[in-house]
Amino acid sequence: MIIDTHAHLNFKAFDEDREEVIKKCLKANLTVINVGSNYLTSKKAVEISRKGIYASVGLHPIHVDKEVFDIERYKELALNDQVVAIGETGFDFLENIEKQKKVFSQHIELAKEVNLPLIIHCRKAHQELLDFLPQKISGVVHCFTGNLSQAKEYLNKGLFLGFTGIIFKLDLKKVIKEVSLDKILVETDCPYLGDEERNDPFFTKKVIQEIAKIKEIKKETVESMVSGNAKKLFRI
Ligand SMILES: [Zn+2]
Repeated sequence: MIIDTHAHLNFKAFDEDREEVIKKCLKANLTVINVGSNYLTSKKAVEISRKGIYASVGLHPIHVDKEVFDIERYKELALNDQVVAIGETGFDFLENIEKQKKVFSQHIELAKEVNLPLIIHCRKAHQELLDFLPQKISGVVHCFTGNLSQAKEYLNKGLFLGFTGIIFKLDLKKVIKEVSLDKILVETDCPYLGDEERNDPFFTKKVIQEIAKIKEIKKETVESMVSGNAKKLFRI
């Protein structure tokens, strides 16, 4: 089984054929964690998780200006059975960083309370994120785009690194080659970051293939390892 550990089938891009896409995935032995980016998309992720997939609930840093993180409301969502993580939360550039930090702290608090790992977003703010994170923390830095030394620092904190189709666009070969396979997750961030107009969870297969190529190992090995990693982290 492959697990797309970061998808957004809860977003509008899938309004027309969401059910079909989910069915197609499950039929192909591909399961999905749909990640919320605000209250509404988190709620949607929980709703569609009832079809036999999974959800994460959180407020994306790009939305911290538009919505307050009401911890009680999110907790209510987080207590649903199929919710396996808190997020996405994190830093998106450094604008508004104080607010982003405050909301991130609330996510950390909630994750502790409900005993779930975090799905962390980071765009162009890796040093600030590394300085901000506690010494040990359970979760994944999703769609990793940092350098090797930053990767190692995240691993030291106990985090996994998630790789998307962005590995076909940015040069992350050195990081992928060096990072131990037991710390890697695959994801799509669909509908974004694919080579088609609307990406979908099947793109994880291409990501797995590319990781296998870079690491010079069999794709079956990558597939079973990354799936095992996801099951372990998200207790699926
Ligand atoms: Zn995302």
